[in-house]
Amino acid sequence: MTQLPLRAQLASALGRSAATLSRMTGRGDGSVIGGRVGLLLEPDLLRKLARDRKLALVSATNGKTTTTRLITSALLELGEVATNAFGANMPAGHVSALSQHKRAPYGVLEVDEKYLPEVLDTTGAGVVCLMNLSRDQMDRAAEIWLLAQKWRRALSGKPTHVIANCDDPLVTWGASTAAKVTWVAGGQRWKEDSWCCPECGGPLDRKDADWACRECTFHRPEPQWVVDDDAAIDPRGQRWLLDIQLPGQANRSNAVMALAVAEAFGMPVEQALPRLREVTSVAGRYTTVERDGRHARLLLAKNPAGWLEAFDVADPQLPIILSVNAQGPDGRDTSWLWDVDYRILRGRPVFVTGQRRLDLALRLDVAEVPFTLCESFNEALAMQPPGRVDVIANYTAFQQIRSEFGRAV
Ligand SMILES: [Zn+2]
Repeated sequence: MTQLPLRAQLASALGRSAATLSRMTGRGDGSVIGGRVGLLLEPDLLRKLARDRKLALVSATNGKTTTTRLITSALLELGEVATNAFGANMPAGHVSALSQHKRAPYGVLEVDEKYLPEVLDTTGAGVVCLMNLSRDQMDRAAEIWLLAQKWRRALSGKPTHVIANCDDPLVTWGASTAAKVTWVAGGQRWKEDSWCCPECGGPLDRKDADWACRECTFHRPEPQWVVDDDAAIDPRGQRWLLDIQLPGQANRSNAVMALAVAEAFGMPVEQALPRLREVTSVAGRYTTVERDGRHARLLLAKNPAGWLEAFDVADPQLPIILSVNAQGPDGRDTSWLWDVDYRILRGRPVFVTGQRRLDLALRLDVAEVPFTLCESFNEALAMQPPGRVDVIANYTAFQQIRSEFGRAV
């Protein structure tokens, strides 16, 4: 790999020292502050750090951290990989990830949906993986449509190879200006944001997995890869039992997206799949923490689609603790709780905690789901009989539980 120009080398080194300092003083993992310092000194740092590498960008409303991790795990088979494993998914985080692995020939970067056009322009990434687009907290359908339109503009006229989920009409529309697209039938659990054709606004007709606009020619493309329950069907029609350790249908879909990305990097399924099976937990998600004989499995749900995925993973035989906060990263408005159908929880012991437990309690009451209100997560955990319990928490609630249990990985 060619040497970075002196100024970029300095900016990158100073950024790394800032990150170390930030970690030592206990101000977080330092990946954002380091990148910010670097970018301040050399605004073109990301472009310079990205040069001469084979990069994949991963974006979606849900599952991007997990899919980034799965792709990274696969590509490690080929060589060193730079990645933003802690979900710092804006340019400062990307600078930090790439400076920490200066010689890595590969990079897998999780990218915030809104930053995808900018990061694609800057890095010139060869591969982009797009999984789903739905409302996040207070976003509304019009906003995610605008986002998809920006993806279209950014992908148009570039040689980028896109791996996209064709079961999500908005993602399909967002990806379809790309020069090369590999379509994956990855499924779509949350359909509330895609009843209208993104091209003309007409109604979308759905039949099983298939969809098509009633008023224009926009329709579901023919997939090359298919997620078939617990297996992947590859473009040659061969069926592969996934057998991954991460739970739930959403993760099986993430795994098939990762296989398709790995193939874009020249890796056959038989080489990539064993690497995906090694991933057990991603940034604390799906980890089990233990206290006094209570084993709590942590599930993160940041938005309505995320709640549906967590319900799919949660064990219906177990009690469940729900924790909702409304701090900065969560969004202060909790009205999105009304978009989620909680009736699936009827019949199991439900415990409600978090700063906004009253908002959630009201929502459950209207859905006629009996629950117990708890002052804190610890109180909720102490009320459980020894054994297993599932926990679904939104972003800051999840991080609080994690830090209390020593940042379980
Ligand atoms: Zn249409």
